[in-house]
Amino acid sequence: MGSLRYPQRMISLDLPTWLLSVLLAPFGLVFGSFGNVLIHRLPQEEKAERNVVTKPSHCPSCKKPIRWYHNIPLFSWIALRGKCAFCGWRIPVRYPLVEFLVGALLAGSVWIFPFGTLIWLKGVLCGYALIILFFTDLTEFMLPDVIQFPLMVLGVLFTLPQMFWPEHTTRVAASGLNFLMIDTFTNGLQPAPCWPTQGPVVGWLSSIIGLGVGYFVPALFNLIYKWIRKTDGLGMGDFKMLAWLGAFWGWAPMAGILFGGALLGSAVGLPLMVMRKASGQTMLPFGCALALATPVVVFYGPALWNAYMGLVH
Ligand SMILES: [Zn+2]
Repeated sequence: MGSLRYPQRMISLDLPTWLLSVLLAPFGLVFGSFGNVLIHRLPQEEKAERNVVTKPSHCPSCKKPIRWYHNIPLFSWIALRGKCAFCGWRIPVRYPLVEFLVGALLAGSVWIFPFGTLIWLKGVLCGYALIILFFTDLTEFMLPDVIQFPLMVLGVLFTLPQMFWPEHTTRVAASGLNFLMIDTFTNGLQPAPCWPTQGPVVGWLSSIIGLGVGYFVPALFNLIYKWIRKTDGLGMGDFKMLAWLGAFWGWAPMAGILFGGALLGSAVGLPLMVMRKASGQTMLPFGCALALATPVVVFYGPALWNAYMGLVH
């Protein structure tokens, strides 16, 4: 992959992409470490246990506070061979995995989005949220409101700059990545991948429709499902996740994410049902499927859609 071609007038850090990557990686590891705190604490029932700000890190098993040198992302887990220094509790692989993933997210972000622009921030925030939600849903079957509600608002806010200063948009292409075209402000402000089916950017209307449809259509289906089968099909957290993804990427990609997530969910769920390991009642973390489908749809959605239309005609 080559580096991004920046338009002439756009303000950018004049650093090689690989150097930006190297500089951002440690920040990613630290955010990943904080992500682990969120994954562990946000699904807790007790309000005091959900404190992620002032409560120092402690071992979930022996409750001893973790020393700073035992809390260095990735490296401490390797140095401690995956065990608590005090009680020998086996620290789940999830901890270094989340740190690594967020490190890779930040290091990789500058190869895809122009560093410092809003599309970069939007991409990184979305990726970070998806990593956290994937693991809260996988381990606790929970998608915390405290993460998802602010993302709904943010998704809509991200569309405002292009509404007020449409004349400042310009097209940035990642060389070697012809699946991604970005309309960005010349002043480095705005952002959004180009969706040929919907015009060049995720506009405020598409964002708000995505938010509304993402929330209410599955909620409506759920009501019907509940009425027929007397049980919940999807959790409310899943609708909220679709809602903020719709606000971030617009209504069409949101529909693609729902479709992709359902496809993935059945690919995993149906064989389980056939092997009788699960019944129609077994809970599967649908948020995990949505999280996996999102990057595929955001980056390859238009290409997949065109390929599908080509097959149909
Ligand atoms: Zn311990």
